[in-house]
Amino acid sequence: MTEDTIAAVATALGEGSIAVVRVSGPEAIERVAPLFKSRVDLRDADTHTVNYGWIRDPRDGTIIDEVLVTVMKGPRSFTAEDVVEISTHGGIVAVQAVLELILRTGVRMAEPGEFTKRAFLNGRIDLAQAEAVIDLIRSKSNRAFQVARKQAEGALSKKIVPLRQQLIELLAHVEVNIDYPEHDVAEMTSSAITGTCLDVKSTVEQLLKTAAEGKILREGIVTAIVGRPNAGKSSLLNALAQENKAIVTDIPGTTRDIVEESVSLSGIPLRLLDTAGIRETSDVVERIGVERSRGALLDADLILLVLNHHEKLHEDERKLLDELVDRPVIIVVNKMDLEGHLELDEIEARFRKDRIVSISAKEGTGIDRLEKAVSQLFFGGSIESGDLTYVSNARHIALLHQTIQTLTDAIEAANSGIPIDLIQIDLARAWELLGEIVGDSVGESLLDQIFSQFCLGK
Ligand code: GDP
Ligand code: ZN
Repeated sequence: MTEDTIAAVATALGEGSIAVVRVSGPEAIERVAPLFKSRVDLRDADTHTVNYGWIRDPRDGTIIDEVLVTVMKGPRSFTAEDVVEISTHGGIVAVQAVLELILRTGVRMAEPGEFTKRAFLNGRIDLAQAEAVIDLIRSKSNRAFQVARKQAEGALSKKIVPLRQQLIELLAHVEVNIDYPEHDVAEMTSSAITGTCLDVKSTVEQLLKTAAEGKILREGIVTAIVGRPNAGKSSLLNALAQENKAIVTDIPGTTRDIVEESVSLSGIPLRLLDTAGIRETSDVVERIGVERSRGALLDADLILLVLNHHEKLHEDERKLLDELVDRPVIIVVNKMDLEGHLELDEIEARFRKDRIVSISAKEGTGIDRLEKAVSQLFFGGSIESGDLTYVSNARHIALLHQTIQTLTDAIEAANSGIPIDLIQIDLARAWELLGEIVGDSVGESLLDQIFSQFCLGK
């Protein structure tokens, strides 16, 4: 159990008019009570009650703010400790003043992630759940938020725990065999090892399959918009950003720089890069832009090649079509509102129909078909029906891969008649690796690293 009492502002600064100061620890109630002017003395307040009053500076009686104070006694609180939450109304100045008063009573300022870390250390949540809290804070789309929330509720842990149970039962079985070796038992044990390991391995493999989708939902599909100058790249980016108001980032750049914007396309986050026009050029400044575009092209998960319906294919575009034929590309034929001069049949001869989408960025038509094409390309069109238990955290993915390797070793060893006490080492290792996901066997330094990713007040 942790012993000191900590406090921090638990809401994002500068957003909204209500801000919350969270205080957690054995002295939370005792320290806040003298600052709280109300009909209720906090020391007598029942757990899980909301109390109305004012925060007052005890030195001169100045009223700082009108507040609502929630008392949650441990272990029925987020951290499993006594928690006092003060909702202030007076904006950023008031919330800072309230926090300062509380810190003056000897309460310590919480480190980033410390509330969640305490929740973990006190057994309220497991490590996968704690990490999901980070993902929740950072999630860029509704869909990613749902994935993270599900994990925070323990969906991944629920899959891991039974696997560990299977392994521990097998380990017990093996243990008995080592202590009381008889021929029959040895054979049974070997086939039990193979059976259980194959079982666990296949479940882990299924979990890993969701990793790619999980990554996309969490980090967004890195999308490069490429094409010749004037094809309508910027107009497409604007059309997408306007239809989908969830613009998260906007990295400023000049016309020759790469502009990045995030949009959510039917629940799929896209990180759109509008690149400088790709073409042969002698202009040095322009060439830098073009080289960046090529880099963006190579790194991209998705390429939107914008062509101008109103003009014939240009030599550069033929080259690009050649280069992109095996890449995750969608050909966006823009300016459909204008008379057509583009050799569409030439493109249709080389790309699948569902990879070619006609739009008018100017009139905003065809954007819905583009959304469908993207969803088709990444999720086979079935994103809405998917199981949301995605493994999306890099640490979890690495541990699952190691688990598979270890189980594979155990299976091979069992099949080739290697002594059981040697196989036992692999089994115990697999059990440990899975334990690291839920935080059963992790060291202090890893914990610090994980929890330091949190923002203050979480
Ligand atoms: P970029 O150089 O590829 O980024 O092209 P822009 O988006 O800047 O567009 C170049 C020009 O084409 C601008 O004058 C746009 O207004 C125009 N434009 C873009 N999309 C369309 C479209 O769908 N229809 C028509 N008629 N004009 C368009
Ligand atoms: Zn442009």
